[in-house]
Amino acid sequence: MTTVALYTLGCKVNQVESGKMAADFAARGFQVVDPSEPADICVVNTCTVTHVSDRKSRALLRRLRRRHPQAVVVATGCLATVGQASLREMAEVDMVVPNADKERLAELVAGRLGIASRAAPAARPAGRTRGFVKVQDGCESHCAYCIVPLARGRVRSAPPLEVVEEVRALVGAGCREVVLTGIHIGTYGADLPGWDLVRLLELLLERVQGDYRLRLGSLEPLEVGEGVVGLMSADARLCRHLHIPLQSGSDRVLRRMNRRYDRAFYRGLVEGLACSIPGIAVTADVMVGFPGETERDFADTFELLRALPLLDLHVFRFSPRPGTAAAEWGDLPGPAECARRSRQLLELAADKKADFIRASVGGVERVLVEERVGERWEGLTDTYVRVVLDDDGLEAGQLVTVRIVGAAQEAAQGKVVCRDGWSAGG
Ligand code: SF4
Repeated sequence: MTTVALYTLGCKVNQVESGKMAADFAARGFQVVDPSEPADICVVNTCTVTHVSDRKSRALLRRLRRRHPQAVVVATGCLATVGQASLREMAEVDMVVPNADKERLAELVAGRLGIASRAAPAARPAGRTRGFVKVQDGCESHCAYCIVPLARGRVRSAPPLEVVEEVRALVGAGCREVVLTGIHIGTYGADLPGWDLVRLLELLLERVQGDYRLRLGSLEPLEVGEGVVGLMSADARLCRHLHIPLQSGSDRVLRRMNRRYDRAFYRGLVEGLACSIPGIAVTADVMVGFPGETERDFADTFELLRALPLLDLHVFRFSPRPGTAAAEWGDLPGPAECARRSRQLLELAADKKADFIRASVGGVERVLVEERVGERWEGLTDTYVRVVLDDDGLEAGQLVTVRIVGAAQEAAQGKVVCRDGWSAGG
């Protein structure tokens, strides 16, 4: 049997797509092997969001050629889309399949190898505690620093009933949490008249029965509307966690980034969420080192984030991406300055997480048991807090009711009070 190994770089969407490629290869009679094993075909699902991801993608392609001189090396993903020509010139690469053809990658590889194959219905994933469903692709926002619209193209939404089927299949296979992911999920339905993310969520919550929860991927600030908040308040199956990129707390920088909101809007949004949905967890992306970012701009960002009730921050450094508006802009803060700003934000993030976990002590949460770590179990609350459990007799994939009895820097300590179903009393 012809063997294939898939290597994935980048975001959750890339991970979901690699999972689909693996299922398609398997359905066509290939044997999907672990990336640590030698394979006849090596597929690299590349990323190009920063110059570092570019470098890592190319280095992996070269390493695979060195390690597996006889293998067919296939590059797909975002670097294979925006850097197609340069990847085709790499002697190490046999096939380059841009994002637009990614869904047919297994078919194209089979064709290239002269292997007759046809797609069969994908088998249900077994025993996974969390599943990911890609509901949308593409972005048309063109933030000044972002290469994603060039790599992913126009907004395309998955047909609603297909999403229902995928979520139902995952819940049926035992997944108790399904993450709805995409490149810009807040624009779900922009290409489907009468549809938007809220209507999709309503359909899912109506059509998919069972004890499970839905978690939303990243949502842009202007897309967290009353609909999402209302559903999150009304239905406990919708995780009380929102990842809302801020990028900068300086109105001047936000305008230059082509981000269509200001710091007052963002502050009002997060404070409003904290009032409307008790215990909600908000996490944010923030970028340092954007062209022209002054010490004053950074201070505005830091002060805003320090004042907001956030669970965590994802801190990124500006990386000039070819073809984006900001790529040619000069006046970049120096590397030492960027390092200092990142460090300050990461320290703030650690303090915020510790504060959030401390505030949850005494409360009762539903925890998805995920893995055994040594003698203990670890799981995740709907607010995206890791919880350590000493209880015996637990299983991966169980949704249990837990009283939070302690707090550490990165995780809470919990005690199971109910193993089946929800028990508010605890
Ligand atoms: S919304 Fe902006 S940052 Fe997000 S993918 Fe689109 S262009 Fe990139």
